[in-house]
Amino acid sequence: MTERKSIQAVVFDFDGVIADTEPLHYQSFCRVVAPDGLACTWEEYVRDYIGYDDRDLFRAAYRNASRTLSESDLRDRVKAKALAFIELTADGVHAYDGIPELIHHVHARYPVALCSGALRSDIDPILGQLGLSHVFQTIVTAEDVEVSKPDPACYRLAVRRLGEALGRTLVSGDCVAIEDTPSGIQAAKAAGLTVWAVAHTHDPESIAQADQVFDALPEILDRLGGCEQ
Ligand SMILES: [Mg+2]
Repeated sequence: MTERKSIQAVVFDFDGVIADTEPLHYQSFCRVVAPDGLACTWEEYVRDYIGYDDRDLFRAAYRNASRTLSESDLRDRVKAKALAFIELTADGVHAYDGIPELIHHVHARYPVALCSGALRSDIDPILGQLGLSHVFQTIVTAEDVEVSKPDPACYRLAVRRLGEALGRTLVSGDCVAIEDTPSGIQAAKAAGLTVWAVAHTHDPESIAQADQVFDALPEILDRLGGCEQ
């Protein structure tokens, strides 16, 4: 079997792969927890929290500070962060170099899904800003699963929904996930996908558990182009 035949679909992570939004999630988080004295440095955020959905982010932050957080307070903080994020991204966000070309290439050749631990309200406005609202056959967000990354449920759901849209069963190992964090890589691998990681957020050594690591998105475009030969 040629490698071209083995790639049946591509599943993109969002934050840190398509849009340079992790610093904005960090700012939104700090804005919400600052009154409780839990704001942290960017380095601590990357080390301890990146790749979590908002529920797990706040749970971990309060747990790490030996503070309790009721379910009601958790919901309030998730809502407050979502509002802060919408405010911080309203004027536009930066898409990574190579995204238009890579998305265009993938969209023309493969079924394509988005699998993110962010909220749908975090993602939809930015997809609109970037002109990418039409690209994804299915979008899985934090609201769609009980537990987000590093749990594999979100990737399993993305593959199942893509298969339903195609009218056939997709084999997870024939789907490529494009990720940027250890948490996302763990989720996609546990769901059985082939994982290509891009070193946007972490250095290549920190994401070496992926099947292949790329310094930047244009290298992934080259790799996919090579699959067609
Ligand atoms: Mg990410």
